[in-house]
Amino acid sequence: MDTSVVVVGAGPTGLMLAAELRLGGAEVVLLERLPEPTGESRGIGFTLRTMEIFDQRGLLPRFGELATSTAGHFGGIPLDLGVLGATHEAARTVPQSTTEAVLAARASELGVRILRGRTVTGVEQGDDHVTVTTAEGTTVTARYLVGCDGGRSVVRNAAGFDFPGTPATTELFLADLRGVDLPPRMSAQQVPGGMVMTAKLPGGVHRIIVGERGVPPRRRTGPPAFAEVADLWKRLTGIDVAQAEPVWVSAFGDAARLVTEYRRGRVLLAGDAAHVHLPAGGQGMNTGIQDALNLGWKLAAVVRATAPEALLDTYHDERHEVGRRLLANTRAQGLLILGGEEVAPLREVLTELADHPEVARDLAARASGLDVRYPAAGDSPLLGARIPQLALTRAGRDTTVFELLRGGRGVLLDLADNARLRARAEGWREQVAVVTAEVRAAADTRRLDGTTAVLLRPDGYVAWAAPGSYQDLPTALRRWFGPGRGTGRPAPLD
Ligand SMILES: Cc1cc2nc3c(=O)[nH]c(=O)nc-3n(C[C@H](O)[C@H](O)[C@H](O)COP(=O)(O)OP(=O)(O)OC[C@H]3O[C@@H](n4cnc5c(N)ncnc54)[C@H](O)[C@@H]3O)c2cc1C
Repeated sequence: MDTSVVVVGAGPTGLMLAAELRLGGAEVVLLERLPEPTGESRGIGFTLRTMEIFDQRGLLPRFGELATSTAGHFGGIPLDLGVLGATHEAARTVPQSTTEAVLAARASELGVRILRGRTVTGVEQGDDHVTVTTAEGTTVTARYLVGCDGGRSVVRNAAGFDFPGTPATTELFLADLRGVDLPPRMSAQQVPGGMVMTAKLPGGVHRIIVGERGVPPRRRTGPPAFAEVADLWKRLTGIDVAQAEPVWVSAFGDAARLVTEYRRGRVLLAGDAAHVHLPAGGQGMNTGIQDALNLGWKLAAVVRATAPEALLDTYHDERHEVGRRLLANTRAQGLLILGGEEVAPLREVLTELADHPEVARDLAARASGLDVRYPAAGDSPLLGARIPQLALTRAGRDTTVFELLRGGRGVLLDLADNARLRARAEGWREQVAVVTAEVRAAADTRRLDGTTAVLLRPDGYVAWAAPGSYQDLPTALRRWFGPGRGTGRPAPLD
């Protein structure tokens, strides 16, 4: 074997995944087709969930001062994300190129071997290995391969994944411009004949997005000419931007596709390679980063043989459902954004419904990635959800639960100084940090009420919570962290 895991694609998903794999102790080679990053930026921000995740891994300071906001929308219906009471606000103006640069630097620091200028063309699976070949003549053999090579994934096709869905019905254009001043409208606006949107990016750049209703994508061999975009913008808004300097012009569509399986043997997919959809509400990159967070520690544990291979099946079980809901949510937003007069009544009804606090919270959670809850048996409302931020006192010093998760290990958080509980986790010391602490403040006290201990996976999701299920702790430890080292007969816990 050349390495334990080969990752294809140094976009946000591949870079995040490679770093997570290294945190879990796996050897990683990352193959990227581009000799250098292009500097282009489709994505321009982080959802609340990604802000939490980057906080959890100590990454936020690397982005400098972030412009954040509680303003959100669902298909153009305004939402106040503040109703979620989350620890963070969403970041709106971080170019994807910056995110990729930050993630690439971190991946390199953690020891990922990034090989650029390698276009993967072939994938071959054996019983105990997978081999990828590139157009440049590089061959890499690894135990597992993860395709993070975007919407047109070669890995997905070569490994025989099904990718059903719906084709694009509308072609949309994007142009990043210098030399114009347009009022930012972060959510889509209906105009006669189509939709338009503007955003202010760093460096005096303004982004315009425009689509003409019912005009499907044309066959193109390269990006559209700026004149075509400026013409359409003028036709739909009456504003002339033809004199502006185009920094980047691109076309995209509303195709919606999801693979039927996230894993076929030794090949797994993450990010746009697994799901494509209209970029409504800026969710694609954020979801890819979260796919990576879910998969990284699991795959690292499997290649290090601390956990059985079956752990990888939970990646499909958990993330395929997230992908399915993502497509439902972006397709629904697509109808609202791209539809014409026929959806006006639906917009009106939804706008009224969004005034109800429960509906507003639900829509805000969908738009923020906070609606994700993995299947879990048990009574605690924390189970299967991500732990909310907790301010803690540990051995007389202040810390937070996100800080405890920084190194990518599991955490057994003992909130009631229970020595017998701690003894139970003795056999998993390598994978799980056992921490006794008191809660000073919590982002979501409702869900935490009465909790005396929680077992957190390395991605920050709650695998077990007490009281109520003390006897299930060893089962949860085995399920998520493998058999551990035998510790003899455990003491009763309650
Ligand atoms: C207009 C627009 C705006 C968007 N805005 C947002 C937003 O605000 N927020 C958000 O979350 N998402 C947004 N998205 C979606 C987001 O850009 C994507 O979801 C995100 O880039 C997916 O990341 P990825 O790493 O999975 O794939 P990609 O970013 O596509 O990265 C794939 C990488 O694989 C490489 N690669 C491809 N083929 C090969 C090969 N054969 N061999 C080796 N390397 C290969 C590519 O060069 C690339 O570097 C937007 C999309 C569009 C079109």
